[in-house]
Amino acid sequence: MKAIWKEQETEHYVFHYKQGSLAEKEIQEVIELQESCFKEITDRLEFVPQKKIIYWLCDNRKELMHASGFEYETNGVTFLDRVNPTIYAVYNEEVRCIGCHEDVHAIVAEYACPNSIAVIEGLAMYFDKEWWGIPNELCTRVYLEDKMYQRLRYMIRDDEVFYQVEDRISYPIMGAFTAFLIEEYGMEKYKKVYKECNEWGKAFQHIYGKSLHDLEIEFREMIMSRDYSAEQLESARKELYAD
Ligand SMILES: [Zn+2]
Repeated sequence: MKAIWKEQETEHYVFHYKQGSLAEKEIQEVIELQESCFKEITDRLEFVPQKKIIYWLCDNRKELMHASGFEYETNGVTFLDRVNPTIYAVYNEEVRCIGCHEDVHAIVAEYACPNSIAVIEGLAMYFDKEWWGIPNELCTRVYLEDKMYQRLRYMIRDDEVFYQVEDRISYPIMGAFTAFLIEEYGMEKYKKVYKECNEWGKAFQHIYGKSLHDLEIEFREMIMSRDYSAEQLESARKELYAD
């Protein structure tokens, strides 16, 4: 099986893709996009990992599962290994699972690995900026208005709670909250929080001088004060609730 995989090394990545695949055909575009994501992420975080990121571009979810040994079918997964951060991503005509998200996970793995999935996904979603093409903040506004909002202080403290909430709700809320923390209080403080691996309540209090509860209230007020038109809210609802 290994023989059909080709390899191309760039400044910050090692890409693997199959001979004759769409990924092979478009590998130059993939390289350009990922290197530009790498630059954006590392510039903003002011952190550059020592290790190159390893990419496996797979034809479909089944092949990804087989190649990665991951237990679920998914479009993209990152193994948060400090030594060999590895990303498996589906790449075909319908799904090109590339861009910032998985790279954020891989890049920061060397910096810290917080024991909160909500915090980890929040940072990746901060770089994605949107969910299904809708800005994280607009998603959060819709959920607040429709009483679908889930309290992030519980999602941060308990992975079980985070997993119980649907991705389309938890991910954009965490992305918007991460953006709020970084834009309001700066990257320096946020990076300190990200290094925290134990007591989230204490960490926020200590680093921001405010409880996580109070920060969440501030965040919700900021989201509710945003100027969204009825049309924007309506078209966001259509997307978010379409099933
Ligand atoms: Zn993720």
